[in-house]
Amino acid sequence: MPEGHTIHRLARDIGRDLRTNPLAASSPQGRFESGAARLDGQRLISTEALGKHLFLNFDDDQLHIHLGLFGKFRRQQAPFDPPGENKRLRLASADVAWDLSGPTVCDLIDPDTYNAHHKRIGPDPLRKDSDPTRFVSRAAKSPTPIGGLLLNQAAIAGIGNVYRAEFCFLAGIHPLTPAKLLPDGKLDELWELAVEHLHEGVRLNRIVTRNPDDVGTSRGRIAAGDRLYVYKRAGKPCRHCQTPIARDDIANRKVWFCPTCQPR
Ligand SMILES: [Zn+2]
Repeated sequence: MPEGHTIHRLARDIGRDLRTNPLAASSPQGRFESGAARLDGQRLISTEALGKHLFLNFDDDQLHIHLGLFGKFRRQQAPFDPPGENKRLRLASADVAWDLSGPTVCDLIDPDTYNAHHKRIGPDPLRKDSDPTRFVSRAAKSPTPIGGLLLNQAAIAGIGNVYRAEFCFLAGIHPLTPAKLLPDGKLDELWELAVEHLHEGVRLNRIVTRNPDDVGTSRGRIAAGDRLYVYKRAGKPCRHCQTPIARDDIANRKVWFCPTCQPR
């Protein structure tokens, strides 16, 4: 599933490509036909990412998109390929088209619905207007394992399965530790790790948590298998202590950790 950095990057890139000119909107798949018909000919005014939610603000309408597990946006430059039958939405200027397929949500929403999303979704480490104390104070009272809480979008927005495993490793905490039992300062540290690494994820358009000094190369050129510390590395040696990385389940999703660097 795309994590928050992907959605913020999309907000930035789609805004850069499509803002200001009237757009052609269509739903080749047909499932968003009336919405696309409404958007057709409108201008994109602004874009906004909140956690894993994307909001596109047009002249007269607001579009809400959540990619879910399988949703994807693809960009192409003119001349455009004919959109495939699985495309929920194509938004196109004369030069650039963005094709959306497989989203969980693609709806026009009213201001009340937009405000309800803002109330429900937790602070987003990629947004300057986020209040980290909302995350820290909630987590400090929570008996939920920290590895589960980090996936709860109402507690902290934008973190998915890759980042949650990596942040627990970087903070040296076992993901099954109840959040309220974490030592003082660990919740603030997790927030700071999220701010730093999600911003890096937006910049690189992929997840890199590994310290470039450990790899001996500049960050953007780290090979795929070298970018992370624990995620999907079960049985492989910990990059710090050589202990084989272990795997467990939290919140119905697999989580990876080093039993030595992250003791229970
Ligand atoms: Zn280790």
